[in-house]
Amino acid sequence: MSVSAWEVVIGLEIHTQLATKSKIFSGASTAYGAEANTQACLVDLGYPGVLPVLNVEVIRMATLFGLAVNATIAPRSVFARKNYFYPDLPKGYQISQYELPIVEHGELFITDAEGKEKRIRITRAHLEEDAGKSIHEGLDGSSGIDLNRAGTPLLEIVSEPDLSSAKEAIAFMKKIHTIVRYLGISDGNMQEGSFRCDANVSVRPPGQEELGTRAELKNLNSFRFIEKAINFEVERQIELIEDGGKVAQETRLYDSDKNETRAMRSKEEANDYRYFPDPDLLPIEISAEFIAATRATLPELPDAKQQRFETDYELKSADAGILTASRATADYFEAVVAASDAKTQLAANWVIGELSAALNRDGLEIDNSKVAADALAGLLNRIHDNTISGKIAKQVFEAMWAGEGSADEIIAAQGLRQITDSAAIEAVVDKVIDANPGQAAEYRAGKDKLIGFFVGQVMKETQGQANPGQVNQILKDKLSK
Ligand code: ADP
Ligand code: MG
Repeated sequence: MSVSAWEVVIGLEIHTQLATKSKIFSGASTAYGAEANTQACLVDLGYPGVLPVLNVEVIRMATLFGLAVNATIAPRSVFARKNYFYPDLPKGYQISQYELPIVEHGELFITDAEGKEKRIRITRAHLEEDAGKSIHEGLDGSSGIDLNRAGTPLLEIVSEPDLSSAKEAIAFMKKIHTIVRYLGISDGNMQEGSFRCDANVSVRPPGQEELGTRAELKNLNSFRFIEKAINFEVERQIELIEDGGKVAQETRLYDSDKNETRAMRSKEEANDYRYFPDPDLLPIEISAEFIAATRATLPELPDAKQQRFETDYELKSADAGILTASRATADYFEAVVAASDAKTQLAANWVIGELSAALNRDGLEIDNSKVAADALAGLLNRIHDNTISGKIAKQVFEAMWAGEGSADEIIAAQGLRQITDSAAIEAVVDKVIDANPGQAAEYRAGKDKLIGFFVGQVMKETQGQANPGQVNQILKDKLSK
């Protein structure tokens, strides 16, 4: 089997849960984690005689998204009923948008395997309600239904089949993830299912215009699983075709334990759903004024911010990318820079390095960091003015993290000021050379590498507090005599 003899084609359907307090057509709460079936009201359950009322906040959110991806906002869009039976959908239809979605013809740029910018077209983004959830665990072999999620607002974002590898699919999905969080329209929480995707995958011989038959991989909710599921599916299809078989158009489920995809059901055609405009809901009409007013609230977006960080702070592109992956991290970094005299690259190194490591270790978000931006700036200032070395700074940072005070307080309390007094360093250097006459002789006979040994000894004597540059210089002077 040779993968390069085939071209991979992927289109994604990303389901983003919109961060509204109440549901898309009812006043029931959308809060996650409540006791089963305590947050579905009669509208969510589709009882006869009750009517859905649109939560207008979702229109603002969908419009904001459309503007962020350079899309067209439809002046008029329509809710439609998608009819199907499933236990988690007791009312027998899902309210979605079909022929007239609210957002169409958007675009997004990702970096492809050769490092080039690649444009991915966004077909559409439409509003819909989520269904409930089946529960299979802890019920002695029977299944239960939790309808709390029924009626939760979703924005389904559909890409054109412009993605050519699992890596590109992940890059696209990560970018959408970053954008929706920048816009504040979704928390993007993948564990809670607030951000999940279906991946449509097919293969074709390079140069062939017509698309191959696709399989749809359902409900992938981690970046790692998406990548694995797509790669498995690509190989499965190629092997199948090369063995003379044909790919069936079907929905498949990814099993992360076995790392394989399995057929779930043959894929419905749109006409199986008998879509029709929902008679209970008016069309959505959006004015040019509303669009202009919403555009005025667009925040600086990730690509623009990354570009600005590279230019204004002279950061490496990769570092600027990491720092702008979330708005909170970017804000924190800018607060550190504003409060510190240190070089911006040093600030970047600390946010990406020590701070991120500490946050990960404690499972904290940057908003809840135990070391605030101005406190970190205070520490960087002491590195910048040579009060402490970078190495001692890590020790001070740990103490700050443990709540022992500001950088200055900890440096004073623990006596960590760097020793920059040449006479004091010379005295220690003399002592170390006297104590190691054998090594000194070897160094003088040409074994240059031993300088590291001597530096280590001096640092040990001074508890790491001697200024490393001065130690090196003084050692070299004395050993060359
Ligand atoms: P549905 O899955 O609801 O039937 P569509 O037919 O519009 O919806 O397609 C959904 C997704 O599948 C889109 O992201 C589209 O780009 C992608 N897609 C369609 N045909 C193919 C194909 N042959 N190979 C890969 N992806 C495809
Ligand atoms: Mg689909």
